[in-house]
Amino acid sequence: MIRRLPLLLLIAALATGPLLLPEFTVTLLNYIGLYAIVTVGLVLLTGVGGLTSFGQAAFVGLGAYTTAWLTTVHGVSPWLTLLIGLAITAGVALTLGAITLRMGGHYLPLGTIAWGISLYFLFGNLDFLGGHTGITGIPAVSLFGWELKSGREFYYLIWLVVLLAILAVSNLLDSRVGRAIRALKGGSVMAEAMGVNTPQTKIVIFLIAALLASISGWLYAHLQRFVNPTPFALTQGIEYLFMAVVGGIGHVWGAVLGAGVITILKQWLQDLLPQLLGQSGNFEIIVFGIAMVLVLQKARHGLWPVLVKLLPERSEERRVPAAAALAKRPANASGSLLLQADNVTKRFGGLVANDCLSLTVQAGEVMALIGPNGAGKSTMFNCLSAVSPASDGTIAFLGEATGELAARDIARRGMSRTFQHVRLLGQMSVLENVAIGAHLRGSKGVLAAALRLDRAEEARLLAEAARQIERVGLQEHMFEPAGSLALGQQRIVEIARALASDPCLLLLDEPAAGLRYKEKQALAELLAKLRAEGMGILLVEHDMDFVMGLADRVVVMEFGRKIAEGLPEEVQRDPQVLEAYLGGVE
Ligand code: ADP
Ligand code: MG
Repeated sequence: MIRRLPLLLLIAALATGPLLLPEFTVTLLNYIGLYAIVTVGLVLLTGVGGLTSFGQAAFVGLGAYTTAWLTTVHGVSPWLTLLIGLAITAGVALTLGAITLRMGGHYLPLGTIAWGISLYFLFGNLDFLGGHTGITGIPAVSLFGWELKSGREFYYLIWLVVLLAILAVSNLLDSRVGRAIRALKGGSVMAEAMGVNTPQTKIVIFLIAALLASISGWLYAHLQRFVNPTPFALTQGIEYLFMAVVGGIGHVWGAVLGAGVITILKQWLQDLLPQLLGQSGNFEIIVFGIAMVLVLQKARHGLWPVLVKLLPERSEERRVPAAAALAKRPANASGSLLLQADNVTKRFGGLVANDCLSLTVQAGEVMALIGPNGAGKSTMFNCLSAVSPASDGTIAFLGEATGELAARDIARRGMSRTFQHVRLLGQMSVLENVAIGAHLRGSKGVLAAALRLDRAEEARLLAEAARQIERVGLQEHMFEPAGSLALGQQRIVEIARALASDPCLLLLDEPAAGLRYKEKQALAELLAKLRAEGMGILLVEHDMDFVMGLADRVVVMEFGRKIAEGLPEEVQRDPQVLEAYLGGVE
């Protein structure tokens, strides 16, 4: 109850607002609400997903113009035009998204600027949309026979949408898909290796953000009862981004805060500055720019985190509810062939990092891949898991050639891995990081998550993650941010994450690096246990005592080539291996 108090107070204040406040303030709140709806989408897209868009105002325009034209010219009911506007926006967003989301780096923001400008000029230059004068006479919306004619009445509709949008996006982020979305920011390599379809996930958040913008546009048109192109220009698109950044780009409630602060500040500056300066002009934009730079300097994560510190402390849920175990894949017979790599070659320009390398891994064995730094071991892992596909050679996993498969397809077939350079989401808890590993063992999508229809599955995913964390002995750290753990422990978290996918083949890249003696012993015990259960393990490790004590077979490589293969005691005596490791001195 205490936890919900700020929210309940806010809702009570929102509900009584129009009854008490002057007209001007209600209008301001209406605009804040409209902006907040767009900004919630941007928080999801940019703040959480890491995809910067300057073009959201154009989507607002799509929603607004669709309803303006259809209701005034064709007499279509506003509720129907809402759906039509959403459909049009979805079509445009999917097309634009398919083109621009593939472009990484600065190309995406540039692409959003380009379409923001194009759509704006389209609105202004189409005669049937009234050109730069726009469309007037848009009808009021009726809700169950109640005609929302005044701003005071319309206010309730706007803020209902704001609250629903926040609820839906918060629910979404706290789910299987939400973890996939949050994993996007760390680059797609880890997410793909855990089975996340990252291009599709990007399209999904892009679509959600566009649809929220479109709804805001529909509301705007029926509040204002008139539209022209100005509010859908690029400058407004930039302002939405400002709102998201100032509010707190990673926080859903930051959208409301940002929309509120910027709208009020702008209004206030517009009134105050001309008085102070004794002449009229858009001075607020200048002050605004300076304020933005200051906020970015002093509060990088926006104002929301600053505000949260003032709210009563939330007692976080620190218990994973018991849930039925997830289905497991059938075990492979011990000794059966899991992985066969033949003549794998990987070139980086002129550098041959893997040169005709062949190896096999069977179920129920630990195969070690060793060699000096730079020998090409991690590169081989990337080839095997299709994170960075081989230039030549064939790889078969469970008898199937993997040449055409993406990393996520291979993950689905039962291969999982860790990374030499740990790829965890430092801000997220250990539990959530490990749950990403179980991504492919769930199926609930965006709608189920937004409507909270995914709770049974979510409980099973989290319970599985918790089980794997206990298995690797990190239960004490389950709710801590993964980034706060020692580096050695973070490697173990990666093993738990890989195990959460219920793999039949595990690729471990230097798992024991940074571990203390006792921790290494515990890890060796765990790996021996997994092997006894029939798992195949391909291990890259520099600690020779660790490797030789655990491995069933060893492949030694140097300069991308295999120089020896055999039982641990055999390769330890091999002159070429001694040469590579010790420069020939015995
Ligand atoms: P190991 O894991 O055995 O220490 P790596 O597989 O990381 O070795 O590297 C093998 C060689 O390939 C090194 O010379 C390294 O510089 C090079 N290499 C690895 N990744 C890339 C890349 N993405 N681009 C260019 N060269 C790379
Ligand atoms: Mg390496």
